[in-house]
Formats: sequence, C-alpha cells, structure tokens
Amino acid sequence: MLTINLQAMSLIVIKAGGRVLEQNIDNVLKSIAVRVSRGLKITFVHGGGDIVTKYENLMGVEPRFVVSPQGIRSRYTDEKELEVYVMVMAGKINKEVVAKLNTLGVKAIGLTGVDGGFMKAERKKKIVILDENNRKKIIPGGYTGIIKEVEAGLITTLINQGYLPVIAPIAYGEEGELLNVDADQAAAKIAESIGAEKLLILTDVEGVLIEDKLAKRIRIDEVDVLESKIGFGMNRKVLMCIRVLQSGVKESIISSGLIEDPLKALEEDIGTKITL
Ligand code: ADP
Ligand code: MG
Repeated sequence: MLTINLQAMSLIVIKAGGRVLEQNIDNVLKSIAVRVSRGLKITFVHGGGDIVTKYENLMGVEPRFVVSPQGIRSRYTDEKELEVYVMVMAGKINKEVVAKLNTLGVKAIGLTGVDGGFMKAERKKKIVILDENNRKKIIPGGYTGIIKEVEAGLITTLINQGYLPVIAPIAYGEEGELLNVDADQAAAKIAESIGAEKLLILTDVEGVLIEDKLAKRIRIDEVDVLESKIGFGMNRKVLMCIRVLQSGVKESIISSGLIEDPLKALEEDIGTKITL
C-alpha cells in the first residue's frame, strides 16, 4: 500500500533545452540520478534545437525560423531539415543522455514518440506566419506537428520496471511520418497523460523574469496581465505550465538548468512556481 502511494506521489517530468544540455549536462544528469536513488520516478524530455542548428550548418542545410502572428518563433522544418533533426535528436543527443545516465547507475532508455507509436501528432498542413514586413502570410506547414495524443502505457510500464525514459521531441504523424514537435509541449503532454505530480522545465534563465525581476510565483489568473512582459521561448513554457495544472498536475516549475543541482527546484524555493 505504502509503495503505491509513494509511486503516485513521486512521478516527475523534467524537460531541459539544448543550451542547458550543452553547458551543464553532467550536473543535470547527476542531479537526476540523486533523486532517482531517493525514489523519484522521473521521465526526462530533452530539446536541442540549437544543437540541431549546429549540425545543419555543418551539413550545409540552412536552418529556417518562422514567427507566428502570436509572436511565437519556431523552427521551420522542411524534408532536409527533418532528416538532420531526427539524426541529432533521436541519435546523438538522446543516446548521449542515456549513456551518461546509465554510467550514473540509472537504467535509462531512450525513446521518440514513434517508438511504440506512443506520441501522435497532427501535421500542420498550412501555417500562418509574419513576413519581414510583419504581414500575415500562409505557407505549407512542413514537418512540424501539434501533439494530439500521448499513450501513457509505454512510459508507465518502463517506469514501473525501474527504467527512466529519455524522450526526444519527435512524434508519429497520421501517415506514419516523423514530425518535429516542441519539447516543452511534449513534456507537458507526457506529464498530463502519465498523471505526473510535477512538471519541471529547466532552462537557461533563473525563471520567469518580469521587468528583470524573478517572479517566484505566478498564479494562473495573473498570466493575462503578465503575458505582454514575457517574450519568445518563455511564453510557450508558461502556457504549457498552465495547461498541465488545468489537467491535474499539481505543480509546474520553470527554473535554471545551469546551476550545480538543478533539481533542487523541486524541494526549495528557487525558480518560478506556477500555481492554480
Ligand atoms: P529552452 O532551450 O530552454 O527551451 P528558450 O530559448 O526556448 O530556451 O526559452 C528561454 C528563453 O526565453 C530565455 O533564455 C530568455 O531569453 C527568453 N525569455 C523571454 N522572455 C522572458 C522572460 N520574461 N523571462 C525569462 N526569460 C525570457
Ligand atoms: Mg525552447
């Protein structure tokens, strides 16, 4: 009985972006390994857009970015870019993380949403973007997707068997195609679907800054007012944090992945806690 309660209480989803991985991967993974040894059941979702960009440059593929009318900037993925994206995300980054965790005594297993078809996304057929003159323009959607469904079964089975799933932000499209999905969104959808207790997003700033000052706590009803003070990158994280709270996750935290022990944000009053 006690075991069941402990398990329910300690399901945590952690996401870290590419810059955090490049600058502080060893500390992030050590911090995870310590919590795993204390009984936390962690699922780790990684990004890595900047690392993909680096390899695109090396391979002579020109990275493209688009800005939505809502002001959200994202990678534009054509067929060539998708190839590099998959190689780097599912290959290099994912396997490096898995190998390092295994070395730290954590049984890690690397997955994309294609494995077991556990993360399904809908490809954006057309997208609206802002052109150089800030005018709306419709272009083909490329190989990016919006995550529609995460089947919890594969992840929870692995966790219950003592594995730590390491998830690359790649989903499975309706026609079996590989799709680039946003890692913040993947982490949020996974947290919702497995019924995680907490979502922790590790990034390269100490949390949500409002007029250069760290917001220690943001309540959902404050977000509308604060929205205009939150820019690219962070706006998406705040949105995801709100969504997970509305689907039953108890706490969502945005905190620095660049410190020595990033997961102390689960225990101490650092970073930004987003609450109902
Ligand atoms: P990640 O790789 O972790 O997903 P992003 O670049 O997507 O990182 O998002 C984090 C970035 O969001 C920060 O480095 C910062 O430049 C930007 N940002 C924009 N507005 C804010 C804000 N109000 N507070 C903190 N960071 C912000
Ligand atoms: Mg990002």
